[in-house]
Amino acid sequence: MSQLTYIGLGSNLGDSQQIMAEAVRKLACLGQVKASKLYQSPPMGPQDQPHYHNAVVQLKTDLAPLDLLDQLQKIEQESGRVRLRHWGERTLDLDLLIYAQDSIENERLTVPHVGVLERDFVLVPLLDLDPELVVRGQPIKDLDVLKQSTLTVLADPSWINI
Ligand code: ATP
Ligand code: MG
Ligand code: MG
Repeated sequence: MSQLTYIGLGSNLGDSQQIMAEAVRKLACLGQVKASKLYQSPPMGPQDQPHYHNAVVQLKTDLAPLDLLDQLQKIEQESGRVRLRHWGERTLDLDLLIYAQDSIENERLTVPHVGVLERDFVLVPLLDLDPELVVRGQPIKDLDVLKQSTLTVLADPSWINI
């Protein structure tokens, strides 16, 4: 049965928009996709790295959570991702933010993703896709972090068609 999932995309190395658009084309092989706008955000963690491009994709897929994570990690690898330092620069980060109504806690996967309620670069694009989204019992549109958001819009959802 097809499940409604949300994937967070981030990139701050290489041609980020191109890398992320390519990732969305690969995600589209896993099920029906819909993209948020494209945003720019200041880095989290080490500050001596470029700004990020961020977006969220809604994906309707038949894949089980760990099979989906395998696919996300494969796409990260194909973008040439190299681990340099924690929360450091990367060509592509794909995080499984939400998987249906599931709560998952195991060695490889925490869902909803740990950062989802605290990170404006995830919340704002999630709201593009579903303004009424509720995560861990919280309507995300009411969260305080959204009031101090430092995100800027780079492009409307057609950014994936480059
Ligand atoms: P953060 O998770 O804080 O955003 P990050 O994205 O930089 O940091 P990664 O290096 O991409 O972290 O991933 C580290 C590990 O996180 C992965 O090996 C993966 O198994 C694990 N992980 C746990 N939950 C998730 C999730 N919901 N989505 C993606 N990876 C997850
Ligand atoms: Mg991440
Ligand atoms: Mg990650």
